[in-house]
Amino acid sequence: MKIEMAKSYGFCFGVKRAIKIAESAGEAATIGELIHNAEEINRLKQNFGVKTLEGVSEIKDEQKLIIRTHGIQKDDLQRLKAQNKELIDATCPFVTKPQQIVEKMSAEGYDIVIFGDKNHPEVKGVKSYAKGRVYVVLEPAELLQIKLGTRVALVSQTTKKIESFTKIADFLMQRARELRIFNTICNATLENQEAVKSLSQKADVMI
Ligand code: SF4
Repeated sequence: MKIEMAKSYGFCFGVKRAIKIAESAGEAATIGELIHNAEEINRLKQNFGVKTLEGVSEIKDEQKLIIRTHGIQKDDLQRLKAQNKELIDATCPFVTKPQQIVEKMSAEGYDIVIFGDKNHPEVKGVKSYAKGRVYVVLEPAELLQIKLGTRVALVSQTTKKIESFTKIADFLMQRARELRIFNTICNATLENQEAVKSLSQKADVMI
């Protein structure tokens, strides 16, 4: 049997960075799971005393808090800052980017469209930075019912596929007078997706 590894796999830059931050933080609590990997979260707990809270509502007397790679919602962040807790930000810079774009573009009066899953913590966080109208969609069809303004800014959840993002952009291009497209899809995801695509074309079985 021939076993071939994908050209790109494993922890991405943002996850490696968050793990390093958590390891050096020591006895601390993360707000939500630091990363999507139960084994690694367990290792951080066992070896470094990093515990995981479900969310902001679970915080009690913890003094040192780590913000997970997907970030948190803006009002939660502001509440925590006001509480005099030590805050360690492990938000991936590729997630901070769409948060900043949404904040800036909505302040300039653009309607915001986020291509992503509305229940995903990253998307909830990014959405919370909008000051005006903001819509989260997965399909162009979802935009049919929405009356958008003349100026629209589009961002994507970092882990989405570029092909689907392009479809949303294409749809909006035909409707908005001014459309600002920010490709906020993360390269790490793209590279892994490409590696999976190419390996799947030649493998009989993929694990
Ligand atoms: S945005 Fe990209 S680099 Fe950052 S945590 Fe997500 S997949 Fe990793």
